[in-house]
Amino acid sequence: MRKPMLAGNWKMNKTRDEAIEFTLATTKNLPCECKVDCVVCAPAIILRDLVKRAEGTNLHIGAQNMCEFESGAYTGEISPVMLKDTQVEYVILGHSERRAYYNETNEHINAKVKKALEFELKPIICVGEVLEEREANKTNEVLKTQTVAALEGVEITNPEDVIVAYEPVWAIGTGKSASAQIAEEACGYIRSVIAELYSKELADKVRILYGGSVKPANIKEYMAQPNVDGGLVGGAALKADSFVELCQACAE
Ligand code: PEP
Repeated sequence: MRKPMLAGNWKMNKTRDEAIEFTLATTKNLPCECKVDCVVCAPAIILRDLVKRAEGTNLHIGAQNMCEFESGAYTGEISPVMLKDTQVEYVILGHSERRAYYNETNEHINAKVKKALEFELKPIICVGEVLEEREANKTNEVLKTQTVAALEGVEITNPEDVIVAYEPVWAIGTGKSASAQIAEEACGYIRSVIAELYSKELADKVRILYGGSVKPANIKEYMAQPNVDGGLVGGAALKADSFVELCQACAE
């Protein structure tokens, strides 16, 4: 039985004060950790404050990106050593915005996944097709290429600590969410790719999230799908009340 997860991706939003206000409004109202893992992936500059305030609650903190190198001349980057030092638990890797705007390749993402696991950070690996690829019936091809590349040479000792998010690019921030059937087919396919790479037993333990215009009004449809283990949510995870609602829906 996989524990559901609701991960919020704040992207480049919220000041420190706004983030602290969010933790005050959410932490007491989140469902039990035994039912769902509630995660917020915040801008790096406020991670330390959030980690401190979320301590002892079911709010877990993640970063939105990470450099594949530990230290050195990489101006503006945040290393796995720094994230570990900040005591965050999760890190989003390969988000489509990173792939599209910052030229992150499958090779970068693979190196980052390896480094994250080396530093005991739990990666949330994003994969997903753009609209043209879906229309050309290339969705599975893209999902396979991205998943295989991200996990190339990656040894998975704790399958519960590796999360994959199916994020169709055409559904991110557009309000056009994928149907529950599309999400289920894609998440099921990703699971079969992981089973081919490792084993069915391991693949059955990996959590696969759906992301793309998830909101309180549609989360239950996704959670009813056998291969969808939760959501990676942008816009609807910014407000405390809707984040709590989303987490509660995942716990039911
Ligand atoms: C995301 O940022 O990963 C995302 C899915 O955003 P939204 O929920 O706003 O579509």
